[in-house]
Amino acid sequence: MSSLVACGATMQVPFHELRLRPGAQVFNEGDPGTVAFLIRSGRLEIYSERDGQERRIATRGPGEIVGEIAVIDSKPRSASVRALESSHLVVIEPRQISERIEATDPVLRLYLRVALERYRESMSATRPSAAEPLIACKNAIDHDAAIRSISLEHDMRRAIRCNEFVVLYQPIVLLGNRALAGFEALIRWNHPKLGMLSPDKFLPVAEASGLITSITIWVLQHVAKTFPTIVRAAGVTDPELGPFVSINISGRDLATPSFKDAVSSLIDRRALPPTSIKLEVTESALMENAADSIALLNDLRSHGFGIAIDDFGTGYSSLAYLGTIPITTLKIDRSFVNAMSRDVTSKRIVKLVLALADDLNVPVVAEGIESEDDAATLHDMGCTLGQGYLFSKPLSFEKALEFVGASERRNVAGG
Ligand code: C2E
Ligand code: CA
Ligand code: CA
Repeated sequence: MSSLVACGATMQVPFHELRLRPGAQVFNEGDPGTVAFLIRSGRLEIYSERDGQERRIATRGPGEIVGEIAVIDSKPRSASVRALESSHLVVIEPRQISERIEATDPVLRLYLRVALERYRESMSATRPSAAEPLIACKNAIDHDAAIRSISLEHDMRRAIRCNEFVVLYQPIVLLGNRALAGFEALIRWNHPKLGMLSPDKFLPVAEASGLITSITIWVLQHVAKTFPTIVRAAGVTDPELGPFVSINISGRDLATPSFKDAVSSLIDRRALPPTSIKLEVTESALMENAADSIALLNDLRSHGFGIAIDDFGTGYSSLAYLGTIPITTLKIDRSFVNAMSRDVTSKRIVKLVLALADDLNVPVVAEGIESEDDAATLHDMGCTLGQGYLFSKPLSFEKALEFVGASERRNVAGG
């Protein structure tokens, strides 16, 4: 185990300071790399000694960092450093670095490790060490997971080009009479080698790589192409009176110009009226670029799009944003609906969301309804819409068409 770092530690470490006179040694080549330094003022010299001869490698001044490499990989210092003038340094502890490294994307951690290894290889003077590198410590890097992410990202680019994604439609019904109100479009990836992948297997990679917006645009375009047939099957001549379709968007989309362009072109082509599309966005996604997101959502709303807050209650506790976004629907997260019958707090949260929605004058969709009891309780509490396996799992396009037909017959039969 490295003498420097306890991996996974989350304790906040205060910064220490160091004041040096000209000529003072900061560290020597071969010393263990225990800490790094941020220079607040003064100037440091980085140098190495070969065959009794000193050779200056570089100098560093205010705002620059020295000694960082050894801290990241826990190996001995590859050069010496001393103060050229009176200097004021802030000491950076390894834990302050390791916490940040552990929080980053595994692919970035892999790259960092490889880059450090290459750097060390090129520094022939580096003495071998038994120290365990910081970024290879427990939980810090899962090499296989990082490689899997890279190949998944590579495959995903092809998937977008070659239409390997599939959209399933999960019905959303009126809790009062079970009439069809709309659908949520949910993506799957029919991977040629790995089979049908659910979103949790690939959306995190899509988010991390920035491919998410290309996927959102693909879903938007696919829905614009296929959903009008579902609307027609519902027997309405005016699509604005037919079932709506909900599309999930990520926080990143709201800050990406190509998303805005795709939505504008959807509006121009009039394939599907914006009033029959609800954009589902989570609270945490909204907070990513709050000001830009709020501006774009207001713009989209003015074009007629519905705006649903997804997984409501699981994100930020501040509800201040509710007054700044033209919300048309709140979706109660499945976790509250599932726990409602056994857990008083969950039921209280559901009640609070319903009261809040009433105040905002917007309907609520309860997600993840699996039992008749929960459906009845929610309806009695004033929830108008429901989604869940009790009514239907997500359906292929063909099955969704059948569901529409059956729903029409059910409504006619039921008056
Ligand atoms: P979500 O938006 O909260 O979607 C609801 C999820 O709950 C879906 O999982 C749905 O299949 C599942 N679900 C619905 N009713 C029930 C139920 O009664 N019981 C249980 N156990 N599960 C139920 P899915 O399709 O695996 O999607 C997971 C998440 O992936 C979605 O959660 C959404 O956040 C994301 N997602 C799906 N499609 C897209 C997409 O096209 N774009 C983006 N950005 N995200 C998507
Ligand atoms: Ca959703
Ligand atoms: Ca949800």
